[in-house]
Amino acid sequence: MSVNRVVRLAKRPAPGLISPDIFEIRDEPMPEPAEGEFRVAIEYVSLDPAMRGWVNEGKSYVPPVGLGDVMRAFAVGRVEVSRHPDFKEGDAVAGLLGAQSHAICDGRNVQRADTSIAPLQSWIGGLGMPGWTAYFGLLRVGALKEGDTVVVSAASGAVGQIVGQIARIKGARAVGIAGGERKCRALIEEDGFDAAVDYKAGDLAADLDKACPDGIDVYFESVGGEILDAVLPRMNTFGRIAVCGLISAYNATSVPDGPKNLRYLLTSRLKMQGFIVFDFADELPVALADLSQWVSQGRLKFREDVREGGLDVFPQTLNLLFSGDNFGKLSLKV
Ligand code: NDP
Repeated sequence: MSVNRVVRLAKRPAPGLISPDIFEIRDEPMPEPAEGEFRVAIEYVSLDPAMRGWVNEGKSYVPPVGLGDVMRAFAVGRVEVSRHPDFKEGDAVAGLLGAQSHAICDGRNVQRADTSIAPLQSWIGGLGMPGWTAYFGLLRVGALKEGDTVVVSAASGAVGQIVGQIARIKGARAVGIAGGERKCRALIEEDGFDAAVDYKAGDLAADLDKACPDGIDVYFESVGGEILDAVLPRMNTFGRIAVCGLISAYNATSVPDGPKNLRYLLTSRLKMQGFIVFDFADELPVALADLSQWVSQGRLKFREDVREGGLDVFPQTLNLLFSGDNFGKLSLKV
């Protein structure tokens, strides 16, 4: 008898990296779709830094995952049984299907994954939530203009690699900040960034000066902490900072220090705005059309880091995001 392999949240984590035992991973009876529903056989589950926040109690932009609930996760797969008029066996769909091998769906809040444009796993990557985040964060929140210098942190990851490539497509100068020589080299040689800064090399301020001789117009912030403090003094007058994420603080065991260089918000008349990708849900078709077109034209590429081991290695794979051991969009093959 076939079963559904499911990752459920068993307990709240302590501050710091999550320990695997906060999740219970088990086999459950295969769910059957009711009239108007279909069952998806999930092929790839996305690992996202936001998951670290989703398992915490407390106020955020979405309610926490409930104790005992299936872990919230983007995933992509194919319809295997359908009692829905618009979805048939074999259709590829992506959405918040959960960290499990099979999901029941009523067709709302899923996208069709057109594998003639990009492979299945790209629909939880560059053509999925991380791609939309890069698109809206850079173009709407960052208000990118042709000729701008854009700096993006966590640049080799799921979101950052897309930010840099969109910046180049839009006629801007793209500078990526990433950890280590291998990631920085790939940004320039494979992703087309104009310059890359290795924040682990020891001289972030001087390296940023070298990479951005005309200052910074848009900073796409994914990290926070010391990187934000190094960027702030280098922002040009009326520059924009799109606060996408603050990953350096997600596993903090005490309240992190605030930015030391906030005075540049005033003296350089900067605009700094946080955003959540879902704020732009109404505009999703526009983003998908542009991203798909750039992929089809060969102007946008995706670096994907797909891990084996199935759902059983979900907890330890999630932690790779916080040690920087992922290289590109991290997902698990189910
Ligand atoms: P990535 O694929 O970029 O993986 C995370 C990367 O962050 C790691 O590879 C590592 O890269 C870097 N990193 C981890 N810890 C630190 C640290 N302490 N200091 C500096 N860098 C660190 O993840 P995503 O692209 O999925 O996410 C990037 C950011 O975007 C996150 O902050 C995430 O929360 C945010 N996000 C926000 C969304 C929104 O709607 N606002 C939606 C999606 C993502 P390296 O080796 O270079 O250090």
